[in-house]
Amino acid sequence: MDVLAAVAVGTGKPFEMRQLVLDDPREDEVLVRIVGVGVCHTDIVFKEGQMIPPPAVLGHEGSGIVEAVGAAVTKVAPGDRVALTFRSCGHCSRCDRGDAAYCETMPMLNYAGMRTDGSRTLREGETAVAGNFFGQSSFATRALVYERNLVKVPEDIPLELIGPLGCGIQTGAGGVMRSLACEAGSSLLITGGGPVGLSAVMGARIQGCATIILVEPHAARRALATEFGATHVIDPAEAPDLAAAVRGILPQGVDYAFDTTGVPAVQQAVMGALASKGVFGIVGIAPPGTPTPGEVNTIMTFGHTIKGIIEGDSDPDVFLPQLMEHYRRGELPFDRMIRTFPFAQINEAIAAQHHGDCVKVVLLMDD
Ligand SMILES: [Zn+2]
Ligand SMILES: [Zn+2]
Repeated sequence: MDVLAAVAVGTGKPFEMRQLVLDDPREDEVLVRIVGVGVCHTDIVFKEGQMIPPPAVLGHEGSGIVEAVGAAVTKVAPGDRVALTFRSCGHCSRCDRGDAAYCETMPMLNYAGMRTDGSRTLREGETAVAGNFFGQSSFATRALVYERNLVKVPEDIPLELIGPLGCGIQTGAGGVMRSLACEAGSSLLITGGGPVGLSAVMGARIQGCATIILVEPHAARRALATEFGATHVIDPAEAPDLAAAVRGILPQGVDYAFDTTGVPAVQQAVMGALASKGVFGIVGIAPPGTPTPGEVNTIMTFGHTIKGIIEGDSDPDVFLPQLMEHYRRGELPFDRMIRTFPFAQINEAIAAQHHGDCVKVVLLMDD
């Protein structure tokens, strides 16, 4: 069928709105009419790095309504409201133990731009267009998705805003609630107050962390962090020595740290702010080749741990409903981070997010 998609065409070029043709759902596929889709930094990294050769349809924080299902699909039916997330196989050694974010076939299922048999879901005339991004490619009015990367959304949850739960929000909240599993009364340093960092602040409050320190250059984001539960905020412009600034608040250092910036100098500075036995979780994407932060003998002497984190160690079928329940109780007011734009204004929306005018963009389709 015909779909309107924002197509990535190359490095430094804006997304182009184009009419494409999407396959009908195969046996294991679900056709979803997208109503909203978040824009995540990973979309930009893939577009600019041409990590899936263009033309490609990206987008991996979609939500919408099921329109049709393949014969083997039992989890949902037409009319169901769904949030989309990353795709996993469901039967490998990692998926079997609930570690879907580390699925053995994660790259093939999420970043290959095609189905596992090599076929494409999207085309423009005779030209194949890469799709299947995170098992969805939801920068489009319709998407083909899979049972493993959709979760039903109850009627009282705002469907059009829920997409970011499936990536940025579960990465931040899950990083603190699942990966680091910060215990009540513990201390946490979060570097970067974008959507992931602010979701980490909300997750830290849910966990009952006693000290939640956020480092972020934008004043508006620091203010939002304070509303979300940060006990201290640091403007890096006023604190060139981050470790000293943190130790000015907690002389022994922090129990946990969570980096969302991917900036090597920031990651290095965080190591100096860790208490003994401190655990440092990293979700920020650093430039290729960046060495692990810290110094081996210091890590050994103080019992430090450095932990890589994907998607907040989320098992979406378990964790996304939990996050929706936290939202319902007012403990995860993620909608306050979101500014909506019409889908056709995707490039303007990305510019606004990039300049810090808004924290999290969600594009709305009016189909
Ligand atoms: Zn798997
Ligand atoms: Zn993402």
